[in-house]
Amino acid sequence: MAKIICVLYDDPVDGYPKTYARDGIPVIKSYPDGQTAPTPQKIDFKPGELLGSVSGALGLKKWAKDNGHQLVVTSDKEPPNSTLDRELPDAEVVISQPFWPAYMTADRFDKAKKLKLIITAGIGSDHTDLEAASKHGVTVAEVTYSNSISVAEHVVMMILSLVRNYIPSHDWVRKGGWNIADCVERAYDLEGMNVGTVAAGRIGTAVLRRLKPFDVKLHYTDRHRLPANVEKELGVTFHENMESLLKVCDVVTLNTPLYKETEHMINDKTLALMKRGTYLVNTARGKLCDRDAIVRALKSGQLAGYAGDVWYPQPAPKDHPWRTMPHEGMTPHTSGTTLSAQARYSAGTREILECFFAGKPIREEYLIVQGGHLAGAGAHSYKLAG
Ligand code: NAD
Repeated sequence: MAKIICVLYDDPVDGYPKTYARDGIPVIKSYPDGQTAPTPQKIDFKPGELLGSVSGALGLKKWAKDNGHQLVVTSDKEPPNSTLDRELPDAEVVISQPFWPAYMTADRFDKAKKLKLIITAGIGSDHTDLEAASKHGVTVAEVTYSNSISVAEHVVMMILSLVRNYIPSHDWVRKGGWNIADCVERAYDLEGMNVGTVAAGRIGTAVLRRLKPFDVKLHYTDRHRLPANVEKELGVTFHENMESLLKVCDVVTLNTPLYKETEHMINDKTLALMKRGTYLVNTARGKLCDRDAIVRALKSGQLAGYAGDVWYPQPAPKDHPWRTMPHEGMTPHTSGTTLSAQARYSAGTREILECFFAGKPIREEYLIVQGGHLAGAGAHSYKLAG
């Protein structure tokens, strides 16, 4: 029997849903590169249910009970006296979602003497100190591809919302107005613009594919160049570095993981390289950007708009300046936790747990750290400091 801590966001303020807007979700069996969607032996939830909040428990309650594991499900995660901190000393597994991350710091690793596995239910394991995980021999795994398309859809939505000035126009309707000039004085067409992604991994490439039919000029930079046939099919221009891409784009989307080298990659210096009036969309991680530099660029007009769903820390404090800066299209961290995505990453979490407790290998593509090193998807996309 093992203790498993599962840190999840709170239920809706008016209670766990009794009904849903739709009766189900489409069945996705595989992803664009052929990787299969999660294949646990069984699931104990109905796809389309709210699984990412405390009562949903990622659909793991029955599995844990049937297998004799102690599943502690909580949203209480702030150090030093949270439920997470109290339960950590004898836990073998910690699970959390990037939307409500259990920040697994070096301090927490020192306290978690029995810890063997950390699962990111979703994608992006930067809330775990990966150097500390390597040092302590803890495996870090995430459910690669489970919500990449969910995020790509959100990026396209946010680009269009900013360029077409959707949110302020919607606000005029709510206020009872018909203020067309107020709505359109900042509204443009996306057609013909130069749109670039910083990283063309699963999300970045899916964004490029979705934007191609808008007749824009596509650009990307990445540590790994796309195959020539993909570049040709998308008609996308490769840039050796981010700086070169920033100089030519009207719209920039960030899709790199967060690690030491990418932290604050968008700062006063790199913002100054952009054309005046660039739109920036960041659904990757808040810390890729220097928080206050973004506010300054929006105030000066260097950025025409900034949208995203990722912040630091999470949850963002009430006075976080991105809540009130001009020309923002921010949401809480929601893009990768649609009901559709939850079904996939809950099934993937169960698949990882089934493998771990059966002593079977976890899929290579789910691994971030194993055996003291970056592994699988982690070795492709992250770098360890030092
Ligand atoms: P991925 O591993 O498929 O792609 C990451 C890409 O980044 C890789 O191609 C890698 O080569 C590239 N890269 C790494 N460092 C780089 C650098 N310094 N410069 C340029 N490129 C670099 O991952 P993905 O599925 O595309 O997800 C990307 C990130 O998006 C995740 O790490 C996570 O932080 C974030 N994400 C956010 C949400 C959300 O809900 N908002 C959900 C999923 C993922």
